[in-house]
Amino acid sequence: MKRKINYMDARFSTRIDGHSRRVRVWLCARCTAWHDAPNRPTGCAQCAHTEFIYCASRKEAKRAVQLLFEERHGVISGLEFQKTFPIFVVDIKTRRIVNPKVSYRPDSTYHRDGELVVEDVKGTSAEGDDPVFTLKRKLFEACYGTPVTVVRKVT
Ligand SMILES: [Zn+2]
Repeated sequence: MKRKINYMDARFSTRIDGHSRRVRVWLCARCTAWHDAPNRPTGCAQCAHTEFIYCASRKEAKRAVQLLFEERHGVISGLEFQKTFPIFVVDIKTRRIVNPKVSYRPDSTYHRDGELVVEDVKGTSAEGDDPVFTLKRKLFEACYGTPVTVVRKVT
């Protein structure tokens, strides 16, 4: 008898596997020491500091280290990670500004050459982008008038 394959289940389990395989990285906020761990470490293995920068992937962590280095050397300023930007829309009938309780949280924000940079680290091709990200990016850009810089390659 031919075995029936449930493609929906197959796709679902692949997604779950992909998610659990993704390495979470905690960077020490003081010395940028790298900690691979699913949960927040209690203290830095290098300097015992207790504040960490959470990175959802190795690629994101690598970029965070670059940005921290650039800030330390005065190339960029005001570096912030995971800053939340609420999205506002206009009620067409009343013309009032409404907050639909949707927000966009880029990986990092900073100033370079006097310009605000809003940056997100994503996969190598735009086709693979999460549709929620694509939508939130458009909403953020329309709402704040700042383009999102998408970093696809971290060298
Ligand atoms: Zn440390």
